[in-house]
Amino acid sequence: MSVAVFGSLNMDLVVRVPRMPEAGETLTGRSFLTNPGGKGANQAVACARQGARVAMVGRVGDDAFGAELRSALAVQGVDASGVLETPGVSTGVAAILVDDGAQNCISVVPGANGQVAEADADAMRLAGTKLLLLQLEVPMAAVLRAAQVARAAGCQVLLNPAPAQALPEALWPLVDILVLNEIEAKLLGGLADVHAGNAAEAAAQLSARGPRDVIVTLGAEGAVWFADGKSRHFPAPQVRAVDTTAAGDTFIGALAALLVEGATMDRAVEHAIRAAAIAVTRVGAQASMPTRAEVLTRS
Ligand code: ADP
Repeated sequence: MSVAVFGSLNMDLVVRVPRMPEAGETLTGRSFLTNPGGKGANQAVACARQGARVAMVGRVGDDAFGAELRSALAVQGVDASGVLETPGVSTGVAAILVDDGAQNCISVVPGANGQVAEADADAMRLAGTKLLLLQLEVPMAAVLRAAQVARAAGCQVLLNPAPAQALPEALWPLVDILVLNEIEAKLLGGLADVHAGNAAEAAAQLSARGPRDVIVTLGAEGAVWFADGKSRHFPAPQVRAVDTTAAGDTFIGALAALLVEGATMDRAVEHAIRAAAIAVTRVGAQASMPTRAEVLTRS
């Protein structure tokens, strides 16, 4: 059984600068690099690195970045045949300036991600797929349709409601597993603040709206899982974190990989926590994601 991801692909364009330029100023940068990203593609790669069969569905533009993103997925063993080229639109990009003080300025252009449509969800081929991963970097109407199509095909739906935004009422009952960080839990739930001390309460409230399993990730404090009236806190291993980019994406990809193998949720969360703890000790998004062998040897 395999995992499908319906979501975003971006090319991150990272410029290192000594300091942030002022309006109208031209400043010489220290270095430039491109990194494949987007929450959808990141979760697909994280999942494939844990040994799962993964297919990605989404859109890129008919430009060089689009071709590069598709082949980057293929190199990771992700089936990118469901990533369509949209003529006349740019591939999604994130233009990122990072200064010597590690501050950043980011502008994200959704580009082709914004063209992902309900018809793309209808066209998904889900035979053999056990779990569909969704995030919110493509239009909400398409996300909702994808959840409907997955449920009709007998697939489970895992939603990562990021970036944080309100969900349509119709989406809640279609979600089997909700995985979100403290900021997203605060926005979607009724609590003024969400932290390790009240994450179980927040998860219980969110579960009451539809998802059977709710996992609130808590950064260095690990994660809380709530299901069937019970909650459990999973601490994270203590590591020296150097870059937490894509920690959540690594967690979700690894969780999904274990779940489609038939692991229990307890075991899947434990594995996901170990995978994410390795990712935060390394720089980058997809570049920081561990393989299955790395997770097993470090635990
Ligand atoms: P997001 O990346 O969405 O903001 P979190 O910051 O909650 O999500 O991180 C997701 C997961 O990554 C956490 O549940 C935890 O397992 C792991 N993680 C994040 N930061 C650390 C850290 N400093 N040390 C160990 N694990 C971490």
